[in-house]
Amino acid sequence: MRWTRGNRSEDLEDRRGESPGRGGLRVGGGIGLGGAVILLVLSLVFGQNFFALLDGGGDLTPSPGGGAPTAPRKGSPAEEQAADFMSFVLDDLQSTWAREFTRLGQEYERAKLVLFTDAVRSGCGAAEAAAGPFYCPEDRKVYIDLGFYDDLKNRFGASGDFAQAYVLAHEIGHHVQHLLGLTEQVRGQHARPDRANALSVRLELQADCLAGVWAHSTNERRLLEEGDVEEALAAASAVGDDRIQKQAGGRVTPETRTHGSARQRAGWFRRGLESGRMQDCDTFRTVLPGVESRAPLRSR
Ligand SMILES: [Zn+2]
Repeated sequence: MRWTRGNRSEDLEDRRGESPGRGGLRVGGGIGLGGAVILLVLSLVFGQNFFALLDGGGDLTPSPGGGAPTAPRKGSPAEEQAADFMSFVLDDLQSTWAREFTRLGQEYERAKLVLFTDAVRSGCGAAEAAAGPFYCPEDRKVYIDLGFYDDLKNRFGASGDFAQAYVLAHEIGHHVQHLLGLTEQVRGQHARPDRANALSVRLELQADCLAGVWAHSTNERRLLEEGDVEEALAAASAVGDDRIQKQAGGRVTPETRTHGSARQRAGWFRRGLESGRMQDCDTFRTVLPGVESRAPLRSR
């Protein structure tokens, strides 16, 4: 993908190196000296660092103006480049969706991207890096550990910058669904557990299609390079059901983890890519082999 290295996005929260259990003895805001003493005693008695629980807990409060926290950990040059790339893609995604929403007479509200290492606390609960990237509708943030991209490459054979861009585009797709009220409608339907899986698959495939709509826009702006589409398609098929959104303690329950088959995922990405219209991403109106159908959802 053609991209330029610039200032980090205002919507990027760099929390690398701040993971729970690694943060050391930082006394979180508001617990006071008494609280600190109690935590110290607990830590000594149980031989476990209870201060670590504060770490990240304080991060649930958005920093004023949404700016990045101070002094984020510096990674290797390759890692810093990956962070810069995510920042570029994030801004490109969100300005694309802002234009698209304006066209539909709606207002786009920006999401945040949190970069973390190993583990993180989100508005949807604690999550470990092993669970893969996810979007939390509660705090409207996407969470990615850049180490996931090594996994994507080494374990699933999906490499290249556009494979990485696709992953973020899919998660921002979930944000778009949340803004349109689709996520909430699907959650409401989860009262019937037998349908939860089918609905989850449709939501996931729609996020893939929305990622494709963005890719269409990058192609029109001549940002795509030879092989980029193949990279994204490979990533869409590689990322299996159990990889994304498996968060510990989150709202996402085990039966909602299904993302659809590799072929379905790549197929819906391609559909968005070719059409460039989010109206063509109505996975709820389409008959999908092996997935129970239902009445289409209506956007807010
Ligand atoms: Zn997803």
